[in-house]
Amino acid sequence: MVDFRSEKLAGELLDPRRGFEPAAVELEIRWDPLTRQSARILPDAGLLPRANGDLQRLANGTRAGCPFCRDRLETVTPKLLPALSESGRICVGEAVLFPNLVPYSKHSSVSVYSPDRHFLPLGELSPRLIGDNLATQIVFARAATKADPESRWVSTNANHMLPAGSSLFHPHLQGSVNPFPTTFQKLLADVAGAQFRSYLESEKRDGTRYLGSTGHVDWLASFAPLGPAELRAFVPGVASPTELDGELTEEHGGGIATALGLYADLGFESFNMALYGAPVGTPDYPLNLRMMCRSNPEPLYRSDATWLERLHWEAAVDISPERLAEEAAGRFGR
Ligand SMILES: [Zn+2]
Repeated sequence: MVDFRSEKLAGELLDPRRGFEPAAVELEIRWDPLTRQSARILPDAGLLPRANGDLQRLANGTRAGCPFCRDRLETVTPKLLPALSESGRICVGEAVLFPNLVPYSKHSSVSVYSPDRHFLPLGELSPRLIGDNLATQIVFARAATKADPESRWVSTNANHMLPAGSSLFHPHLQGSVNPFPTTFQKLLADVAGAQFRSYLESEKRDGTRYLGSTGHVDWLASFAPLGPAELRAFVPGVASPTELDGELTEEHGGGIATALGLYADLGFESFNMALYGAPVGTPDYPLNLRMMCRSNPEPLYRSDATWLERLHWEAAVDISPERLAEEAAGRFGR
């Protein structure tokens, strides 16, 4: 029922590094068992150079004038309408949520992990900081969907650092509550529940890419990744982030922190994440999370989004999912 389709391709060239002798070149094309989206797995070519440790310098250079830092946040970030929040901003622990000035969605939010943490490398994103920030997004999504019941499509997302699409250095999450799904929300919501179950069961049985469960949340390395070092998580029995209770939010925050710890250990500092909600009551839809590394912030960095990713919707990665799973071994309870 679940098709883990992959095709290995071999080409040949005359290699300048070996006196122009004929040399074989290989790649693999895979198709995602759930969405059929294709991906290319390339041999290791160093496409994503590891971090060189200059993040602190970037933090220092961007602190002055940062609208998300404690001394400015109160006066320069917008407030939610009273229908969504009496105080205008949603605070849980150190995290603070406010509307996004750029209307990416009908209800669009930004939530900082902490107004006091302008510099927050991936290895320091603790379960507490992530769980609390996720909690602000859930309170926001519940309030927005209650005030505007037609906006049923919720997602919680991250652009972490400039290469991932963030215009500000200060680490934060973004929330989206819309009357229409994104292309990918629709694609995932159209997958039959049985298909999700078979996919997970197959990966558990095979064990190569299955990383373990944190209790209620299953984690795995994506068979056909959307980008470098893609990890996926599923929360069965929950369709929308609005349905995550306190305990599940903590658990999911802990899993995301573990994933980011892995990224940090692999030498990455920038990532994207999406928690793709479907409307409450969507039968058999498990809440989907996907996250991937992005190029590290460097003055002359190479973007990991090329003609393939942007115009063909097909990622080319040189970190194999199986190697990623080996690196993750033992971190998610397996
Ligand atoms: Zn800041």
